[in-house]
Amino acid sequence: MRRCTGCAVDIEGDWARCPLCSAPTTGEAAPSPLPAVPLEFSRRRVLRALFLTSIAVILASFTAQLLFSRDLDGIGVLRSVWLGVSAMWLVVLMAVRKRRNVAKGTVYLVVLVVLVCVYWDYLTGWRGWSLTYAAPILCASSIIALLITVRVMRIEVGEHILYSGLTVLLGLAPIGFLAFGWVTDPLPSAICGILSVVALVLLQLGRGQDVQHELAKRLHL
Ligand SMILES: [Zn+2]
Repeated sequence: MRRCTGCAVDIEGDWARCPLCSAPTTGEAAPSPLPAVPLEFSRRRVLRALFLTSIAVILASFTAQLLFSRDLDGIGVLRSVWLGVSAMWLVVLMAVRKRRNVAKGTVYLVVLVVLVCVYWDYLTGWRGWSLTYAAPILCASSIIALLITVRVMRIEVGEHILYSGLTVLLGLAPIGFLAFGWVTDPLPSAICGILSVVALVLLQLGRGQDVQHELAKRLHL
């Protein structure tokens, strides 16, 4: 067993320095009596990584817009990507800051930004990028934001139902634009629709585990 001469204590495990006074220990190392604890999933670290990635994506999209500004056909995607990423963070921030009316706030945000994009599209000679790219990307970002919110925060059952409804609504809107033939490329709308279905399944799965956990606790299983 290792020993700290300063504190006059024996120390289990293979501490090179005394955990009390951090002086070098002497003697042979004994096997640690504590079980090895696996690294815990850190929400803060995940959020930070997501945040840094978002900043990088936004900067990259701005750089790309600057570089390819002459080719106007491809610019719709680039324009919409940073709007989507920004919207996602606004929704998450909204959820973390003031817990009430997140669903309503999300709808207002998406509708407002899509309207601004439609106007922008109209002013620059209608190319349809606002409905083809901006609308599905904004809806998809909001769906991802709702998933992050549900993952990070404790959500009540009522809110959970509201979020599920909102996921369906956000998935249906671009599908609606697609059905009306207002989009030039069906892929973004289709991806958003699929994402909405996946998110809905994930939301129900997450809740299912919650319910199971609650039942197990109550019934002492
Ligand atoms: Zn010591």
